[in-house]
Amino acid sequence: MRMYDLIMKKRNGNELTKEEIDFFIGGYTEGSIPDYQVSALLMAIYFQKMNKRETAELTMAMVNSGETIDLSAIEGVKVDKHSTGGVGDTTTLILGPIVAAAGVPVAKMSGRGLGHTGGTIDKLESFDGFSVAMSIEKFIQNVNDVKIAIGGQTADLAPADKKLYALRDVTATVDNMSLIAGSIMSKKIASGADAIVLDIKTGSGAFMKSEDDAFELAGEMVHIGTNVSRNTIGVITDMDQPLGYAVGNALEVKEAIDTLKGEGPEDLTELCLTLGAHMLVLGKKAKDEHEARKILMDIIKSGKGLQKLRQLVVAQGGDPAYVDDPSKFPLPAIVEPIISSYEGYVKAIKADDIGRAALVLGAGRETKESIIDLAVGIVLHKKIGDFVCKGEAIATIYANDDEKQKLSTKMILDAYEIVKEKIIAKPLIKGIVTKDGITKF
Ligand code: URA
Ligand code: CA
Repeated sequence: MRMYDLIMKKRNGNELTKEEIDFFIGGYTEGSIPDYQVSALLMAIYFQKMNKRETAELTMAMVNSGETIDLSAIEGVKVDKHSTGGVGDTTTLILGPIVAAAGVPVAKMSGRGLGHTGGTIDKLESFDGFSVAMSIEKFIQNVNDVKIAIGGQTADLAPADKKLYALRDVTATVDNMSLIAGSIMSKKIASGADAIVLDIKTGSGAFMKSEDDAFELAGEMVHIGTNVSRNTIGVITDMDQPLGYAVGNALEVKEAIDTLKGEGPEDLTELCLTLGAHMLVLGKKAKDEHEARKILMDIIKSGKGLQKLRQLVVAQGGDPAYVDDPSKFPLPAIVEPIISSYEGYVKAIKADDIGRAALVLGAGRETKESIIDLAVGIVLHKKIGDFVCKGEAIATIYANDDEKQKLSTKMILDAYEIVKEKIIAKPLIKGIVTKDGITKF
């Protein structure tokens, strides 16, 4: 088999066979096929697309390019959740504990990654002493003991995806449905999930700017999961403004604790109840979504969710005093309100720009080597549809550096669009995709 022939075949709009897909993924992973040929094939895939069969086979070839984690020693149906990424998304810190408290085992491999704020692991490290360093045996034991563990990605999961993603990033071939779907699903399947709930974001702060594209991506991923007997559900959700109010690491942890106490932002709470309800149904802890939501609301009300977060922190070496009293989290040197010079209704908050404003403060990583400042970030006071008076604070900035504060403040003010006419906020949950079809709300 020659790579040249595969490139020409796809360039001319033909389907690749399973053997051809295995050949190119295998050869690229081991280094016998060079970047330039794979770049050409990726561009051909970008223009000619892959069908559902090819996409599913590409995914499995990437799964088989490295190790897969065996979680069969964990009792129960392991349901994983993946979000396609947004701004100020603290969902895992809430969803993990409430779902675990309902009895669904949460065995989560999380990343640090590049982004506006740190990943789930960075956020959890706001608890002094918290660590994800543990053997796979200890990880499994923790899930069996307390129903939840958060591990770092230590195993060599889907190495083909790591190489391909880096190449796509520099060849303008990231935004292809099949390539995105395969990339995400290969990592989920390799990390041992029995069932998968996907939170697919759409809007200004998301990868998929249009709703139609988000539904199409969900369809691709549900098809891949179903094909390999992983019950998969895609929930399409709004990312036209940051989720909740807090954007930052310790600030988001505090927001998660508030939400676990039933005192969190409405949108964040609703998203966690919706995704969590699907996880409970897939995990066979509720017969339908309605019953699942009731169970989860009871878990929040009774404090069992917060108790579960406390157990998780203790099990992984962290100081639970912060869970009991979040005012213990250290504050940065500068805490200042950001004042609006306009009056009117908030029409839009460019989520991407709020994310970049948090990054400027030091809340996220620009390169792999960047060190995160856990204390800095932004707390919004106004969301889409809210009325703002002239001279009122639209947000509070948490900074450790004057220059960064000034730059970030300007970015936040620019991210807000304030208009005279009344604005009605759009619904958060836009629809659901399952193996049985699409439901739009
Ligand atoms: N996230 C991934 O992991 N892969 C993609 O291709 C896009 C987003
Ligand atoms: Ca938030």
